Amino acid sequence: MTGTAKSHAKGFKPEAKKHLGQHFLHDQGIISMIVQAVDPKPGDRLVEIGPGQGAITFPLLDRHGELTVIEFDRDLIFPLSEGARAHGTLEVIHRDVLTVDFSALANESPIRLVGNLPYNLSSPILFHALDHAGSIVDMHFMLQKEVVDRMAAGPGSKVYGRLSVMLQAYCQVIALFDVPPGAFRPPPKVDSAVVRMIPHPPQKIGIDDRALFARVVRDAFGQRRKTLRNALSRICEGTAIEAAGLRPDARAEQIEVADFVALANWLKANAQVEADTGEDAADNTD
Ligand code: SAM
Repeated sequence: MTGTAKSHAKGFKPEAKKHLGQHFLHDQGIISMIVQAVDPKPGDRLVEIGPGQGAITFPLLDRHGELTVIEFDRDLIFPLSEGARAHGTLEVIHRDVLTVDFSALANESPIRLVGNLPYNLSSPILFHALDHAGSIVDMHFMLQKEVVDRMAAGPGSKVYGRLSVMLQAYCQVIALFDVPPGAFRPPPKVDSAVVRMIPHPPQKIGIDDRALFARVVRDAFGQRRKTLRNALSRICEGTAIEAAGLRPDARAEQIEVADFVALANWLKANAQVEADTGEDAADNTD
């Protein structure tokens, strides 16, 4: 049988593909906890990233009646569409999620994103979603626990870093619960966790130049043991840091998100600083 013919066969469960980060959830308790955390309400527009074999998709459909999913693996498209018939109305978008324009998908009716994400793509997917934050009500994602810990960390924590600041500047980040490897087939090598992200309203974000903000945060954490004065020496003098209301002898790991925003905005208004030079904010967000 060819691959496509096989994937059209009834009850066909394709092998998990490592390069697509496939770890399929099978723990019904965890699946219920995710559906409860999402808690869909009438009128919500739910969009799931990476539905796989439907572990979260079908229970969400049972609860909500309709759902859009974005799946890259062509072998899963037919089984998903077929399997969904008994549960509700499923729109399947067969695409790489990084090429999906969430704002166009929302089309003025903001969406709620859900997904047990492929861990190899988690940072790019998070930053892609943030580019469309104005069209997103909230996000519920399963990620590596270590990544969720960094996303939700505050100043003073050992894991507070670039990822924490870049995400918390745009969203409220709430770690919900941990998930052990045994909840998936095949089990990943690491623990996982579910996180909720709620984009801030635009007026609360208050970043005047996103690229400059990204550069300040990147350099500040580039050498996290250094003082801000030294870590930011390619961008500004210690006097500028002081004028923006921060202590030049503090370290990045002690600085609140709002103070990074204040510093970037001060530099935008008062100094000639080039914005980020093209390195994607999603890279090396540690
Ligand atoms: N939601 C399912 C579950 O919980 O059992 C599957 C989760 S699995 C960790 C990640 C899913 O994302 C897989 O179905 C995989 O094929 C899909 N995927 C991987 N890369 C993708 C991409 N670039 N765009 C869309 N889906 C992708």
